[in-house]
Amino acid sequence: MQRAGKGRTPRRPKKPSNIEKDPVGVYCRIRPLGGEDEECCVEMISSSTIQLHAPDGLKANRNGEYKETQYCFKKVFGIKTTQIELFEDVARPLIEDLIHCKNGLLFTYGVTGSGKTYTMTGSPGEGGLLPRSLDMLFNSIGPFQAKRFVFKPDEKNGIEVQNQVDALLERQKRDNQQSVPRTPSSRQRADPEFADMINPDQACKFEGVDEDCCYSVFVSYIEIYNNYIYDLLEDAPFDPVRPKPPQSKILREDQNHNMYVAGCTEVEVKSTEEAFEVFWKGQKKRRIANTELNRESSRSHSVFTVKLAQAPLDADGDHILQDKSQVNVSQLCLVDLAGSERTSRTRAEGSRLREAGNINQSLMTLRTCMEVLRENQMCGTNRMVPYRDSKVTHLFKNYFDGEGKVRMVVCVNPKAEDYEETLLVMRFAEMTQEVEVARPVDRPICGLTPGRRQRNQAFKDELSRRLEERGGPVNGDPVQLNQLIESLPPLPPCELSDPSDDQTLPRLMEVLERRYRIRQKMTEQFNQTANNMKYTLQQFESQFSSKENVLHDQRSKLGEKDKVIANQRTEIERLEKKSKTLEYKIDILQKTTEMYEQDKRSLQQELEGREQRLQKELAERRRMEQRMQGMVTDTKLKWERECERRVNAKQLELQNKLWVKDEKLKQLKAIVTENGGASGGPAEPPRKPERPSRERDRNVAEKRSASPTPLSTVPPVHPMHRRSHSAGGEKWVDHKPASNLDLDTVMQPIIPNAIKVSTPNEKALSKCHKYVLRHQELASDGEIETKLIKGNVFKTRGGGQAVEFTDIETLKQEDPTAPSRKRRSGSREGPAQTDDIENRPPVANISSSHGYQKRRRP
Ligand code: ADP
Ligand code: MG
Repeated sequence: MQRAGKGRTPRRPKKPSNIEKDPVGVYCRIRPLGGEDEECCVEMISSSTIQLHAPDGLKANRNGEYKETQYCFKKVFGIKTTQIELFEDVARPLIEDLIHCKNGLLFTYGVTGSGKTYTMTGSPGEGGLLPRSLDMLFNSIGPFQAKRFVFKPDEKNGIEVQNQVDALLERQKRDNQQSVPRTPSSRQRADPEFADMINPDQACKFEGVDEDCCYSVFVSYIEIYNNYIYDLLEDAPFDPVRPKPPQSKILREDQNHNMYVAGCTEVEVKSTEEAFEVFWKGQKKRRIANTELNRESSRSHSVFTVKLAQAPLDADGDHILQDKSQVNVSQLCLVDLAGSERTSRTRAEGSRLREAGNINQSLMTLRTCMEVLRENQMCGTNRMVPYRDSKVTHLFKNYFDGEGKVRMVVCVNPKAEDYEETLLVMRFAEMTQEVEVARPVDRPICGLTPGRRQRNQAFKDELSRRLEERGGPVNGDPVQLNQLIESLPPLPPCELSDPSDDQTLPRLMEVLERRYRIRQKMTEQFNQTANNMKYTLQQFESQFSSKENVLHDQRSKLGEKDKVIANQRTEIERLEKKSKTLEYKIDILQKTTEMYEQDKRSLQQELEGREQRLQKELAERRRMEQRMQGMVTDTKLKWERECERRVNAKQLELQNKLWVKDEKLKQLKAIVTENGGASGGPAEPPRKPERPSRERDRNVAEKRSASPTPLSTVPPVHPMHRRSHSAGGEKWVDHKPASNLDLDTVMQPIIPNAIKVSTPNEKALSKCHKYVLRHQELASDGEIETKLIKGNVFKTRGGGQAVEFTDIETLKQEDPTAPSRKRRSGSREGPAQTDDIENRPPVANISSSHGYQKRRRP
C-alpha cells in the first residue's frame, strides 16, 4: 500500500524482523510445439512439476550421461491452458491486491519464442494477462471512478487530489492545449487490431471494492533497451525531415526512496478500452522505433505500469475528501522481459552485439540480485544487492525491498534447440522461488462511517423522485410567494351596491395605501439590500482585480521560472549525454580490467606451478646429496679398511725382506770384518719377522730396556734417532761396489768429504768415522733399489777398524710408465710417484699400521 499523504508514494517504515513474508510466486507455462514432428524435451509430470529430457542429439554428444531433471513450481500450466485459466491463477490476486492498495510485480521470463508476449499481451481473441487485468480492474471500480483530473500526478511519483471545480478548469485547459497528450475518450471506437482481445463473456470482477472511495487509474508504458529507458507514451512532435531518435529517461528516487522514471507520461484512463488503446499506441511506437533503429525487439524489456489512486468520500458521501493524507496509491507492474538466451544464439554483430551484451547484462544482474537476496535471507548475511547495475533491477528494487506480491511466469518452449537455454531458465526460476518478499499490510480505515455513497445516492434519488412528483422544478419559489402575499393586510370586501356608499371605497383606499406603504418599505429594503449587494460585489471586484494583478505577477514569475527550468533541462540533457559517454567508457574499462585480471590469474597459476616444480627438484637434490654422502662415507670406510689391510700385508712382506737383508748384512759384515782384520760383536741370531703388533712391540721395547749394559768396547750409540750424517762434517768412507749401476736420478745421496772406494780398505777406514755401503738389488717389483747401509767406524783394541751398522737408507727408483708396475700403497697415493727415500729401521719394528717408525739398533 502506498499513501500519498505528502503527495508521494511513500516508502514503508523499516520493518520489524518478525514481519510476514511470502516467497516469489513462480509459475511455469509450457507452450505447444511449433510442428507435430518436432522433438519435445519438456514434459509436465504433475500440476507443479516438469521434467526435462536431453534431446537425442545432445545425448549422443555427451555419451548419454545426461539425466532427466525435474523442476517444481507453484503451478505448472500445460500446453492446453487457456489465457483465462492462467489469469485466474496468476493475475487475479494481484488485481485484488491493487484495489486493496497493495503493490504487485508480474513478469514473464524465458527464451525468445517461448510465449512471454503471448502470455502477457496475448493475441487477437486470446487476450493475455495485461488486457484481462485492465478489464477486471475497470469492471470492479467502474462506477466508483472519480472525474478526470480530480487526481493529479505531481511529477514526483506522487498523486494529489483537487476539487471538482479545479478539475473542470484543468479539463478545459487540457482540451485547449494540443501539445499535451490528450486522454483518449472512453467512448471512442476501439482499434480493430485489439478489439477482440477481451471477450465480454469472460469479464472478471472483484466484488470487494470499497464503495466509499473514489478511484482513478493511471497507466505508463516504458521500454528498456540497451539499458536506456524510453517513454512509449510520450507525444514528441514528429519532424519528418530530421527525425530525432527517442530521448531516454532517467530513474529517480522519490522522497520515500521509491524508484520512478522521471518525466514519464502517466495517462489517466477511465475504461478497459481506453487503457488498452493507450497500451496499443505505445506498442505501435515501439514497433516503429525497432524498425527504424534496426533493433532486435526480443532484446528489449517492456514495463506497463497500472497506478491506482483512491481517496475516501467525505461524510456526505457526495464529494472526495479533500485531504491529501487520505489519498492512497498502489501500482501493478506488468513486465515482458527480453529473451533470456545468450548472445551467441542471435548471431548479433557490432553495436548490436554490444547492445545485446547489455541486455544479457541486465538479465544477469537480475539473476545476481535474486542470488544475493536469497543468500541474505537464508544465511542472514547483509551483502549489497546490486540493483543499480541495471535499469530493470533498479526499477524493481522497491518490489523486493518493500512489500508486495512478486510473481513470475516462466515460459518454456519444449523444442529441442532451446533445451540448454531452458535448463538455465529453470535453474534461475527454482532459485527465484526461494526469495521472499514482505507481505503487504492492510490499509488503515479512514474513520468515516461506511455506506456514505449509498446513503447519498439514496437521498439524491429520493429528491429527484419528489421533484418529479411535483411536476418538476420551477423558477422562483411558489411557497415563498404565497407566504409573502398572505403576510400583506387582507383586502376588505369592495362590492359597491349603493352610490352613496362612502365607506367601502375609503376602507379600500386605506388598505391599499397600507399595502402601498408596505410595498414601498419593501422596495426600500430591497434597494438597500441591492445596494449592499452592489457594494459587496464592488468590493469583490476590486479584490478580484487585485488578485488578478497578483496572478499576473505570479505568471510573469512563472515565466521566468520556466526559462530557468528550460535552461536546467538543457543542462540536464548535456549531463545525461556526458554520463552516457562515461558509462560507455566505464564499460570498456571494465572489460579491459577483466582481461588483465584473467592474464594475471593465468600468470599466477604458472608461477605457482613453477614454484612447486622447483620445490620438488630441491627436495630431490637434498635427497640425492644425502644419498651421495652416505655413499662417500661407506666408500671411505671401505677404502680405509682396504688400505689398512694392504698396509699390513706390505709390512709383513717388508719385514720378511728385512729379515733376509739382515741375513745378508751379517754375511757382509763378516766379509768386512775379515777384510779389515778386525771384527765387531757377534752377530745377533736372525729373527724371523712376524706380523707387527703393538703388544709385541711394547714387549720388545721392555725387553730391550731390560738388557744388560753393553761393554765399554761396544761403541756408544746415541739413543736418539738421527736421520743421516752424510750431510754433516764427519769423514765418510763411501763404499760403492764396482757392480753398482749409475742411476741418473735427481735424488742422489751426495756425501761431501767422502773417500770413495769400490772395496773398503783399512787405510780409508782409519781416516774416517763413518762408513756407508751402496748396495743395489732388484726389488720384488722389478725395480732397482739402492740401499745406503751406514755405520760408525771404531778403532778396535787390537788396533784394527770395526764398523757398527746403524742405519739403512733405501732409495727406490720407479718408472712411471712401466705398465707392470703395481701401486704400492693405498689408493690415495698418486700413480706418478717416482722417487722416494725412506729411512728403514735395521730391524723391523713396526708400531702402527699407518707407517713405519724408525728404530735404532743398540
Ligand atoms: P516471446 O515473447 O517469448 O518471444 P511470443 O509470445 O512472441 O514469444 O511467442 C512466439 C509465438 O508462439 C507467437 O506466435 C505466439 O502466438 C506463439 N505462442 C506462444 N505461446 C503460445 C501458447 N501458449 N499457445 C499458443 N501459441 C503460443
Ligand atoms: Mg516477446
